[in-house]
Amino acid sequence: MTAKKSFHVYYEDDADLQLIRGKKVAIIGYGSQGHAHALNLRDSEVDVVVGLPDGSKSKAKAEAEGLRVMTPAAAAAQANVVMLLVPDEVAAKVYQQDIAPNLNPGDHLVCAHGFNFHFGKIQAPAGVNVFLVAPKGPGHMVRRQFTQGKGVPCLVATLTNGDSTALNLALSYAKAIGGTRAGVYETTFKEETETDLFGEQAVLCGGLTSLIQLGFETLVENGYSPAMAYFECVHEMKLIVDLIYEGGLSHMRSSISNTAEYGDYAVGPKVIDHTVRERMQKVLEHVQSGKFANDWLEENAKGAGQFKAMRAAGASHLMETVGQELRSRMSFAKPQ
Ligand code: NAD
Ligand code: MG
Repeated sequence: MTAKKSFHVYYEDDADLQLIRGKKVAIIGYGSQGHAHALNLRDSEVDVVVGLPDGSKSKAKAEAEGLRVMTPAAAAAQANVVMLLVPDEVAAKVYQQDIAPNLNPGDHLVCAHGFNFHFGKIQAPAGVNVFLVAPKGPGHMVRRQFTQGKGVPCLVATLTNGDSTALNLALSYAKAIGGTRAGVYETTFKEETETDLFGEQAVLCGGLTSLIQLGFETLVENGYSPAMAYFECVHEMKLIVDLIYEGGLSHMRSSISNTAEYGDYAVGPKVIDHTVRERMQKVLEHVQSGKFANDWLEENAKGAGQFKAMRAAGASHLMETVGQELRSRMSFAKPQ
């Protein structure tokens, strides 16, 4: 197949650290991304404070690292670059209550996922430029790579098309968190938001977990032991994914047996067939229309009952209880 769009990549020499060093940055939230951004910025000699509500459990952790912690409103008030790293489903509320009243013309509002901006839930006031710096990896990796002198690739985008000031500041921020060491890819809010949601729903999270669970259930319902089903459908996934990560599908296929490789080509497309492709198209359209975003925000507004019920059902599945028992005998299979 041929690509319809190309991309531009920026590296260390394309970004000027002094731009972000000349600003006061507020990191709102200190979770997965927040702690990594705050610590990497601090180590890059950027003036940074953390914004957390009174009573937040993360406050002690941030202070133990020597970071200054204020309320989100106070942090935003004294900053001219405000990075919003709270969960997407609460971001609009935090923005309206704490951030918006403290933004002045010339300030920059920043996010790591375009969700609320692209779907119109947050609209910055006139004179405030918005940009996105999204590491393509979880926060602990963003931090660990940085401390090892490396970095995680980042996406950057601006909502002020063609304004090189915002783009240069975004690149400077990305450099300060280690992104330009690995490559920073220029995208748009639309592309980042829609590909991120599609990827996690159709492939990375939703597609993969459904595939794993159906495979496990098929074996167990046919009388095979749950331990065997777990090893075949869950445990060995890591070996395969690691090979794909290191060298793509061809590298993975060169490492597995010829029998496995033949089964891959001959049978895989019968399981994941053209009907899946058609449903993926529908998933993408559901994302693009904003319907998914509205459904998710509405679910939260109603107290997230359905979300919590699905979480509980997933956690109590036989595959999870069997897995827990098997992993307790595998010292290498422990959360870091
Ligand atoms: P998280 O759930 O790990 O952390 C959220 C933080 O926000 C916590 O410190 C929490 O205490 C704080 N918080 C919650 N409510 C708050 C409030 N009212 N005021 C101030 N702080 C509040 O979230 P995360 O995974 O770091 O996600 C943050 C953003 O980064 C999201 O936009 C997400 O899409 C994006 N992102 C995440 C990842 C990832 O791997 N986790 C990767 C790329 C982008
Ligand atoms: Mg994502």
